Amino acid sequence: MIAEKMKSYVENSSVIRAMFEEGGKMAAVYGAENVYDFSLGNPNVAAPVEVRQAIEEIITGEDPVMVHGYMSNAGFEDVRTAVANSLNRRFDTAFHEENIIMTVGAAGGMNVIFRTILNPGDEVLTFAPYFGEYRAYVSNYDGILKAVEPDTDTFQPNLEKFEEMITGRTKAVIVNSPNNPTGVVYSEDTLIKLADILRRKQEELQTVIYLVTDEPYRELAYDGVAVPFVTKYYENTIVGYSFSKSLSLPGERIGYLVIPDQVSDSEQVIAAANVANRILGYVNAPSLFQRVIGKCIDAKVDVQFYDKNRRTLYDGLKKFGFSCIKPEGAFYLFVKSPVEDEKVFVEAAKKYHILIVPGSSFACPGYVRIAYCVSLDTIVNALPYFEKLAQEFFG
Ligand code: PLP
Repeated sequence: MIAEKMKSYVENSSVIRAMFEEGGKMAAVYGAENVYDFSLGNPNVAAPVEVRQAIEEIITGEDPVMVHGYMSNAGFEDVRTAVANSLNRRFDTAFHEENIIMTVGAAGGMNVIFRTILNPGDEVLTFAPYFGEYRAYVSNYDGILKAVEPDTDTFQPNLEKFEEMITGRTKAVIVNSPNNPTGVVYSEDTLIKLADILRRKQEELQTVIYLVTDEPYRELAYDGVAVPFVTKYYENTIVGYSFSKSLSLPGERIGYLVIPDQVSDSEQVIAAANVANRILGYVNAPSLFQRVIGKCIDAKVDVQFYDKNRRTLYDGLKKFGFSCIKPEGAFYLFVKSPVEDEKVFVEAAKKYHILIVPGSSFACPGYVRIAYCVSLDTIVNALPYFEKLAQEFFG
C-alpha cells in the first residue's frame, strides 16, 4: 500500500514525461525522423568541450580518494569559492564560500530550501504559468502552493493580484526567470516593484517572506537581454541555480543555492540547509561534477544554436497565424491554442506526429508549450505540419 500523498502524485504524474514516453513509442513505429517531439526540456546542444577536458584532468590528475569521497554536506570548499567568486565578478555581489551550497540540480536545491523553511500549512506563492514540479517541491514539506493568475498580455508577474494574495501564512515566493514555459525574462522594473511589495507586506504582517529564485535558464538569454540578479533588489532572496541547461548536464544533477548574509537569520538558514541536504538523502551534490564545475564555472553552451531555433520556429508559427509572445530566454515557446481547450489542439498535433505540452500542466490552460531544444532539422521539417495544423483550425 503506497502513501496517500504518493497516490495523488502518481495520478498527476507529469504529463510532460508521459508525452516524452509517447514520443519514444511513436519513433519506434514511424521512425525518429518522422516524429517532432517538442515535449521535454532536454538540451540538444552538447556540453562545452571544457567539461570533457575537466573530467579528464580530474580523473587523471586529482587524488581519487578526494574526488570520489564524502566532503562537507555543502560541497567542496574550493568549488564553492569558485562559484562565489564567479557570481561576484559577474553581478558585483560579495558572496563567500559559506553562502554557497552545492545541490543535486535545481530540483534538489528547491527541496533543500523548502525543507529548511516550511512548516506545515505555510503558503508559497508563485506566478502562473509555472513549472508544475513546484507543487511537489512545496507539498513534500506540507506547504501549500498558491498560483497568482497570469497577465497573458506580457506574462510578466501580475503584481496587483500578487499583493492581494499575500497573507500572514506566506513564507516564500518562487520566481523563475527566464521562465519555463513562456521564455519571458522578468524585467528590472518588475523585480523592483515585486521587492517593494514584499518589503511592505513583511512590515505590515511582521513576517519574513523569502523570495526563492529558480534560475536554471539564467545563461540562456537572447538579443543581448540582461537577466537581473535578484539578490540586488530584495534582501531575503535565496537563489537556486542549476547547470542542467547552462552546461547541458541535466543527467549529472548539479547546481547550487546561494543564501546571502543579508537573508533574515542567514546563519541559521545556511546551517539548516546543510543538514537538509544531508537528511533528504542527497548527502552532498555529486562529487565528480562539483569538481568539474570548479574548473568550468565560466564555460558556456552555444546559445546561438537555440537562438536560431527560436527565430525559425517563432517566425514560422507567426506566419501561419499562431499567436505567441517572442521569448527572450530559455528554450520554450508558449503559443495560444487556437481552441479554448488546448488539449484538443495537442491531440490534433499528434496526428502529424507533433508532440507539445498542454498549458494546463503549467496552470495556464488555453496555451501550449513547444520546447525548441531540438535539432534545427526537427523544426524545419515540422513547419509544414504546423502549417497544416493551422489550416485545420484557422481555415
Ligand atoms: N526549474 C525549472 C523551471 C525547470 O524547467 C527545471 C527543469 O526542466 C527544473 C527546475 C529542474 O532542473 P534540474 O534538472 O536542475 O533539477
